[in-house]
Amino acid sequence: MAENPLNGNTVSHSGRHKRSVGQWNKFWGNGRTLNITFINEAPEDIKKTIEKIIRQWEPSTNLTFTFNDAAKGDIRIKTDAQTNESYVGTDATLAPELEPTLRLAVDCEDPDFELTVLHEFGHALGLQHEHQHPKANIPWDKPKVYEFYKDNFQWTEEEVDGNLFSSLSTDLLLGPYDKDSIMHYVVDNELTLGDWEVRRNTRISKLDRRNMRKAYPKPGNSPL
Ligand SMILES: [Zn+2]
Repeated sequence: MAENPLNGNTVSHSGRHKRSVGQWNKFWGNGRTLNITFINEAPEDIKKTIEKIIRQWEPSTNLTFTFNDAAKGDIRIKTDAQTNESYVGTDATLAPELEPTLRLAVDCEDPDFELTVLHEFGHALGLQHEHQHPKANIPWDKPKVYEFYKDNFQWTEEEVDGNLFSSLSTDLLLGPYDKDSIMHYVVDNELTLGDWEVRRNTRISKLDRRNMRKAYPKPGNSPL
């Protein structure tokens, strides 16, 4: 799913995935090795930087991440894309062969680089948008939101609906609503009614980690 355009001003976004938080049927098989590859010619240091960021997720899962340049990875990263987006979990297996499943448009010098990689890889692991959690109850000023995303990112109302307003059904939830989630968009106070905002989350939150432990439990460990 697209990274929040409010997190970075230089990229355009499109809405490929429409739901949030985590759907059980999109998680990878627990205990498996996830092969992660780069499909464009990216400098080694950038690949290493991305790998290091992605590996922040690994200890909270029961998956093994391997990185290489083979063409056929489970997750295929393109570092010079036009948008920041990712297939959600095993939806990546539906992507055309040799096409990227995780796209990055953000430059590694950008202050939002790390949070963008963390967010998009959260999608790759099966997480969806936290602001679409049914308990989020964000007091959106909807006309303003439509206008803002149209003016700044050329999003249609349908894209705004899909990426911001539509909410997950409760049976797909992993845990309680988490304003600190790396999967939460920035919510500008100007785009809500009253005094309500979510600032820029830059780290994997405690509840993000708990959700990962629920999705990919290690044998013998309580997920909580
Ligand atoms: Zn997203």
